[in-house]
Amino acid sequence: MNCALIILASGKSKRFKSKIPKQYNIYKNKPIYIHSIEKALNSKLFNKIVLVSDNPKRIKINDKRISVIKGGKERSDSSLLGLRFLKKFNIKNVLIHDAARPNFSIKLLKDLTKNLKSNIAVIPALNSRDSLKYKIKNKIYNLNRDNSYLTQTPQAFRFKDLYELAIKQKAKITDEATLFVETDKKVKFIKGENNNNKITFIEDINSTKNFMGIGFDIHKLVKNKTLFLGGIKIPFHSGLQGHSDGDVILHSITDAILGALRQKDIGTHFPSNNNKFKNIRSPKMLKPIIEKLNKGNFYFNNIDINLICEKPRVSNHRNKIIKSLAKLLDIDESLINLKGKTVEKLGLIGKEKAIACEVIVSISKYD
Ligand code: ZN
Repeated sequence: MNCALIILASGKSKRFKSKIPKQYNIYKNKPIYIHSIEKALNSKLFNKIVLVSDNPKRIKINDKRISVIKGGKERSDSSLLGLRFLKKFNIKNVLIHDAARPNFSIKLLKDLTKNLKSNIAVIPALNSRDSLKYKIKNKIYNLNRDNSYLTQTPQAFRFKDLYELAIKQKAKITDEATLFVETDKKVKFIKGENNNNKITFIEDINSTKNFMGIGFDIHKLVKNKTLFLGGIKIPFHSGLQGHSDGDVILHSITDAILGALRQKDIGTHFPSNNNKFKNIRSPKMLKPIIEKLNKGNFYFNNIDINLICEKPRVSNHRNKIIKSLAKLLDIDESLINLKGKTVEKLGLIGKEKAIACEVIVSISKYD
């Protein structure tokens, strides 16, 4: 199947009162537009993904399946630019999606493409929960709620049919279904998703349910051991002793998350008298805790880390450690801060016999 997806992320977000355009704001651990890209890749439905952005330089993706192109003035211009870009690839089906809807499911993508087998346009839609009125000149009419559709994206089309309508469009449309409805073409409506809302106002991405957690850890440094910090190997004369690999950063983060979730501590979840956990790598301990976090619909606001050691110098390894943590936690790097703190050569830490770490995390719950 030759199927493409166009993700529109070039809006000016006039109603979204923020210094940076909506699509680049962090929502549920990462920039809004990233959610659509990740789901598209995970669905394995698309040979080609086109991200239409107002500012391609801002896009941090490196994947050969994804092309980033510059958008136009209005949504309809950007959509047409995406279609023109795809023209040369011999695409059979195309889905068009607004990046401002990050909460759609992969199942919806599959339902849309399945329905394209016997339709030229497939649109997810919901009935309105509110009563609807319609104004023509000065007169107000009641609309029957059960016969009114609120259309969502992604919307799915046969490429050829959509392209022909799109290049002839005159009015500035707000979704591609409009082109088919206006020209009396058959549109198949399927059930949309209640949580596939369009993020429009900054309130839509703010959660008021915030929690904080604190973590602390210290391990002794011993010879002939590899030093692991933040999930990666750090070249050093000694490594951290412990029941596991002694990664003080990951242990502190794990404890801080458990604190924010109000779920006791790392020792309760991974008792050191249990041989199952002997020599376990710390990313393996962190993983089920992150799964617990995401299952509960909790997402990070930020993580602040103090690594307390005389050596190694944090500044030499900061970028690598942050990259590793972002990957392990599945969050944007901008949410992590790592500080290095020496102790004026005092005590065990000062004599390079131990490394300690403290962490504070802030998380939010989204319903
Ligand atoms: Zn530890």
